[in-house]
Amino acid sequence: MAEPLDTRRGTLAVPTFLPDATRAGVRGVSSEDLRAIGIEGVVVNAFHLLRRPGARVVQAAGGIHRFMDWDGPILSDSGGFQVWSLIRQDPNRGIIRDNEVIFREPSTGEKWNLTPERVVGLQFQLGSDIVVCLDDCTDAEAPEAEQERSVERTVRWARRSREEFDRQVRQRRDGVPPRIFAVVQGGGSEALRRQCASALAEIGFDGYGFGGWPLDADAGLLADPLRWVADALPPEAPKHALGIGRPDHVVTAHALGYSMFDCALPTRDARHGRLYAFRSGWEERRPEPGDPFYRAVRIHDPEHRVAHAPIEEGCDCPACSRHSAAYLHHLFKVGDLSAERLATLHNLRFYVRLFQRLRSAA
Ligand SMILES: [Zn+2]
Repeated sequence: MAEPLDTRRGTLAVPTFLPDATRAGVRGVSSEDLRAIGIEGVVVNAFHLLRRPGARVVQAAGGIHRFMDWDGPILSDSGGFQVWSLIRQDPNRGIIRDNEVIFREPSTGEKWNLTPERVVGLQFQLGSDIVVCLDDCTDAEAPEAEQERSVERTVRWARRSREEFDRQVRQRRDGVPPRIFAVVQGGGSEALRRQCASALAEIGFDGYGFGGWPLDADAGLLADPLRWVADALPPEAPKHALGIGRPDHVVTAHALGYSMFDCALPTRDARHGRLYAFRSGWEERRPEPGDPFYRAVRIHDPEHRVAHAPIEEGCDCPACSRHSAAYLHHLFKVGDLSAERLATLHNLRFYVRLFQRLRSAA
C-alpha cells in the first residue's frame, strides 16, 4: 500500500484526487471553494501556463501558489499529452523530434521550443511541488513501431529531465526541493509498458505516472496495462494514474496500487449537468472493482423540474446542503452562472467522499 506523500507544502493522504486546475484555476470555482469542500492538492499544466499567461508572469506574481491563492501541494503536468494532441489534430502546429518538441501558436505566430530541460526549468519557475518529466505520448492504438519509439524517447527525455532537475536543486539550494515524477508510456503493449516502467525505475524518481490512456477507454481494457506498469515499478513508489478519473476506473486503479489521480471529467461533466451520486445502500461502504456504487444524474432531464430533494440525500456539498435538484435544474435551464459552480462543487465533493472511503480500511 502506498504511503502518504510528503511534499514541501504538506503531506497528501492517499489515495488522493487532484482536480485539474489546468490554467491555474478550476473553471467556475475559487481556490477557497476547493478548500471548503476538502480538496487537498491540484494539478496545473506547465505547457498551458507557458502559453498563457507565461512563466514570467507567474514568477513575478510570486509563484503559482500565490498567483492562484493555493497553499497546498501543486503538481505541474509537463504538457506532453497536450502538445502531442494539439500537434496530432493539426500538424501545422508543430513537430515532435527526438530531441525536442516545436510548437507553433497559430493565433500569434509564436514558437515554443520545448526540451526536457526547458520543461523542468519551467516548472521550477512556476514553483510547483511535484515536477513531471516531458514524455512522448502516442495513441494507445498506434502500431508497435510507433510505441517503441515513444518509449525510447520517453526514457531518454526522463533521464535528461532527472539530470536537469538535480542540477537545478544543486544550484538553487533554497529550502526543500520539489519532487519529480516520470511518466510511463507503451500503449497497450505489455512488453513495452514493463520495459518503460523498469527503465524509469532504474533512473529513479519520487513517483511515476501512468500515461497515454484515453479518457473514454473501457475499464476492462485499462486494468491490464495498469497492472503491468504497477508490477514493474517499486511497490512503495507513489503511482499516479494520469487523467484517469471515472469513478469506477478510480476504484479499479486504486485496487492495483495507484494512489494519485487527476481528471478533467468530474468538472467537465458538472458543467454539462452530469452529476454523480452514490447509489442508495452505498453511502458508507468502500467500493471494490466492479461494484455498482454510483449513478449519473442528468440534471437537465425533465424529471428534475419538480424534484424538491437534493441531488443526493446525505451529500454535504454547497449544492445539496442548501438546494433542491429542482432549483439546480432551474438554474441550468435559465443559464445562471451559479449552476455550473454548484454542479462542479457537488461533483468534486463526491470525489472527496469517494476517496475518503477508499482510504478507510474496509
Ligand atoms: Zn452534493
